[in-house]
Amino acid sequence: MKIKYLGTAAAEAIPALFCTCEVCREARKAGGREIRLRSQALINDNLLIDLGSDTVANSVRFGIDMTRVLHCLITHIHSDHFCRPEFFYLNPGFTHREPGMPPLTVHGSEDVAEALKESVASSAGALVCRAEAPFVPFDAGDVRVTPMKANHGTDHPYIYLLEHDGKTLLYAHDTGVFPQETWDFIKETKPHISLASLDCNDGDTDGDDYGGHMCLGRCKRVRARLIEAGAADENTVFVLNHFSHNGVRPLYREFSQVAAREGFIVSYDGMELTV
Ligand SMILES: [Zn+2]
Ligand SMILES: [Zn+2]
Ligand SMILES: [Zn+2]
Repeated sequence: MKIKYLGTAAAEAIPALFCTCEVCREARKAGGREIRLRSQALINDNLLIDLGSDTVANSVRFGIDMTRVLHCLITHIHSDHFCRPEFFYLNPGFTHREPGMPPLTVHGSEDVAEALKESVASSAGALVCRAEAPFVPFDAGDVRVTPMKANHGTDHPYIYLLEHDGKTLLYAHDTGVFPQETWDFIKETKPHISLASLDCNDGDTDGDDYGGHMCLGRCKRVRARLIEAGAADENTVFVLNHFSHNGVRPLYREFSQVAAREGFIVSYDGMELTV
C-alpha cells in the first residue's frame, strides 16, 4: 500500500498566511520541505484522505488527476480537512463530466453526511456521501476501511485503519491520545499495523494529554501502547505528521533529526512511502 502525503500542516499551514513568527519567516526563506500546506493524503493513487482548501493546489503541484479519485475519506469537518464549498463544484455547470463517469463517493461520520446534504442533492449524481458507523468496516474501492473514534474538537471525528493487499495503515489525524473505545477495539481486533501516521501538531515537546492533538512525547506513548496491544512491532513504520508553526521546533531540518533519533519519520509535502 502506498501513501503520498499531499499536505502535512495544521490549519494555518506553514508559512501561515499572515504570520511573521520566526518559523514562518524561516520557512518562506528556505522553501522546499519547510513549506507545508494543509493535511491531505492519497492512498494507492486513487483514494483521497480529506479534501481541504489546498486540494486544487495539491492536484496541480503533484500532477494528480482528481477525476481518477472515486473515493474520499473525511477525518473530520474542520476546514483544513473538509472544505464544503469545493463539493458544490461537482454540480452540473461548474464541472463538465464525461457521460457514464462514476460519482465521487465520500465516506465520513454523520457530521460529514449532514454537511454534504445539499451538495449531494444538487450534484445530479456526481457526489455520493455515506455516513459510516464507527468500528464498522466498509470498502472504498479495493481498500478495506475501518473508522475509529478520534479525540478531537468536532462531534464525531474519525481516524482510519486501511487494509489492502495484506498491509494495514493507521491514519490518525487529527486526534489527541485515542479514546478508550478505540483502544479497546485495537486490543480486541489486533490489526497488524505496517505504517502508523500519528498527529504531531505540537512538535518537539511533551505534556499532559488533551483532546485535540499530540506531540513527540505523546506519540511515543501511543507507539508504546500500540506495541503493547499487539497492533505494532519493530517492523511498523511510524510517521509524524500535521505540524503547526505554533508547535515546538516544527521546521523539517531540525525536527526530522530529533524524531529520527526516536525512531520516527517526519512527513513532508510530497513524501511517498510504500509498505
Ligand atoms: Zn487539522
Ligand atoms: Zn508563524
Ligand atoms: Zn482538526
